[in-house]
Amino acid sequence: MQPIQLFVPTFRIDETLEAIRECLEKGWTGLGFKTVQFEQAWKDYTGLPYAHFLNSATSGLHLAVAQLKAANGWQDGDEIITTPLTFVSTNHAILYEHMKPVFADVDQYLCLNPASVAARITPRTRAVIFVGMGGNVGQYAAIRRLCDERGLKLILDAAHMTGTRVDGKHIGADADVTVFSFQAVKNLPTADAGMICWQRADLDAEARKWSWMGINKDTYARTTGSGTYNWYYDVEQVGYKYHGNSIMAAIGLVSIKYVDEDNSFRRQICAWYDEAFDDEPRIERVPMNPDGVPSRHLFQVLVDHRDEVVGKLQQAQIYPGVHYRDNTVYGMYHDQAGQCPAAERASNRLLSLPLHLRLTKDDVLRVSQALKNAVLELNTN
Ligand SMILES: *Cc1c(COP(=O)(O)O)cnc(C)c1O
Repeated sequence: MQPIQLFVPTFRIDETLEAIRECLEKGWTGLGFKTVQFEQAWKDYTGLPYAHFLNSATSGLHLAVAQLKAANGWQDGDEIITTPLTFVSTNHAILYEHMKPVFADVDQYLCLNPASVAARITPRTRAVIFVGMGGNVGQYAAIRRLCDERGLKLILDAAHMTGTRVDGKHIGADADVTVFSFQAVKNLPTADAGMICWQRADLDAEARKWSWMGINKDTYARTTGSGTYNWYYDVEQVGYKYHGNSIMAAIGLVSIKYVDEDNSFRRQICAWYDEAFDDEPRIERVPMNPDGVPSRHLFQVLVDHRDEVVGKLQQAQIYPGVHYRDNTVYGMYHDQAGQCPAAERASNRLLSLPLHLRLTKDDVLRVSQALKNAVLELNTN
C-alpha cells in the first residue's frame, strides 16, 4: 500500500529547470531580473496594483505591521485583533513590533467572527489581521466593513488564498495590505517566498527599502543604470534582509502559469471528498462561504476523538494534518487561553485530509473510507 501524504508540491520540472538555468547562465540569482518579472506576473494575475516579492510570507506579515506602525504612529503595546487559529507567524508578526495580539474567536468557517472582533475593540486597537483559512473568504467582507466603521487597518494574511476570487476578482484588492505565501506546500509553490501587496505607491516603495536593509534602490537598477558610483546609495533606516531572489522567482514564474488549473483540480478533489462524506454525519465538514471561489488550500473536517482517528489513519499509511492548534496552547500565547471557545473546540477536533495534485480519485476514496471506518470504530467502542 502506498503512503498518502498530506501535501506534496508539484513542479513542472523541465520548464522550471529551464527558468533556473537562465538565472545561472546570466549569473543573476539575487534581487532583480526574475524578481521583477515575477512581480509583474503576479500583478497581471491578481489585478493588484502593487506587489513586492519577499523571501517569505512571515517576512511580509512583519513588514505589514512594521510599516503600518511607522506610518501611523502606533505605539508599543497598541493592540491588533487576530485569530488564535493560524500558523504562528501571523501572531509573531505582531510581537516582533512589540504590539499586543488580542485574540477574537472564529466562526463556522474557522475565520474571524465579526461579532467577536467587534467585542474586542478597545481605544488601543489599531488593526485586524484576517486569515482566509484554507482559501475560504469567511466573513472577510463584514470584517472589512467593521474596520472601515471603526477606523482600523485591515491586514489580510492570504497565505492560503492564491487563486481565491470574489465576483471574479482576485482577493486582496480592498485590504490595506495583503500578504501571500509561496512556500513549498502552498498553492503556488516555490521553496520559500512571499509577496506583500500594498494599495499605495509610497508604501510599496517603502517596502522595497525595508526589505533590503533600508537601502533605497535595487542592485539590478544600479548595475544596469548609467551610474559608475554604485556604492553611493543612501541607507535611510534599519531595514531587514527580506527580499526574494531570482531562483525562487524563476520557480514562481512557472508555477503561476498553472495555478488556476491546479486549483480547479484541488476543487475536484474536495468534491470527491464531499461526495464520500454526504452519508456520514459524524464527519463534520468545514463549510466554504459560497460568496467566494476558494483556492482550496485545505480540506478540513471536525471529528471527535481526533488524535485516535489520526492514529488509525496512520496505521492505514494515511498522513493527515491539523491546521491549526489554538495558539493559546503555546507558551508564548498562553496568557490569553480560554477566551475563544469556538477556536478551542475546533482545535481539538480539526483534521486536514490529504490534498495535493498527485492524488487520484482512488486515493480520495481510500482516505474517505479509512476515515469513515476510524470514526465509526471510535464512536461505537
Ligand atoms: C504558511 C503560512 C504563513 C507563513 O508563510 P511563509 O511563507 O512560510 O513564511 C503565514 N500564515 C499562514 C496562515 C500560513 O499558512
